[in-house]
Amino acid sequence: MRECEARFGRPFAAVQLLAVSKFQPVEAIGMVNSLGLGRFGENYLQEAQEKMTALSDLALEWHFIGRMQSNKTRPIATLFDWVHTVDRASIARRLNDQRPQHRPPLNVLIQINISEEATKGGCLAADAPRLVTAIEGLPRLRLRGLMALPASTDDFNEQRRAFHRALELYRMLNAHGTKLDTLSMGTSNDYEAAIAEGATLIRLGTAIFGSRPALEPPV
Ligand SMILES: *Cc1c(COP(=O)(O)O)cnc(C)c1O
Repeated sequence: MRECEARFGRPFAAVQLLAVSKFQPVEAIGMVNSLGLGRFGENYLQEAQEKMTALSDLALEWHFIGRMQSNKTRPIATLFDWVHTVDRASIARRLNDQRPQHRPPLNVLIQINISEEATKGGCLAADAPRLVTAIEGLPRLRLRGLMALPASTDDFNEQRRAFHRALELYRMLNAHGTKLDTLSMGTSNDYEAAIAEGATLIRLGTAIFGSRPALEPPV
């Protein structure tokens, strides 16, 4: 990460790391935490709940990065510190209404369907400004930025082009008075291109933990 920052003219430590721990056992999370990482991403609610209980002695920051279903918003609003996958106003309102009063406002990112894939969640870039306005009116949510998961490709320039569209949207929103500080993009396969295009938070699973035991459905 630090080497990529230098290579692409990013400030030192401009990029932070989210360890994506889906399908990894609690022992592996504990081990990665002991090496200095405290921020973990999970896609599946029940699996995440079990891990949070087992690891409650550790001060971990939990990020929900899975597909949002409206019948699961209450536990997500209760348990997580961040949600990366808000893509519609109805979900944002539920998270806002269900965030417990004893917890600080929930940090949220708007997921952008940056490659406009029918199989992926996220709102279209054109619909983002309206969703930003809706979330800014919700006091129990703190809008921090955007999340993107582009179509998978091994072509570095193609990776950069997709991330660049997310960066342009992020800059456009900030130029119009929104205060976003987080651009969550880049996975094990494409984080170098994401850092080149302004990512502030990369989400690495296999690059940290090794391969996962099973394939999961798309987010
Ligand atoms: C699984 C997942 C990742 C991590 O992917 P790797 O290829 O293992 O680095 C990142 N973001 C999201 C949304 C994921 O579901």
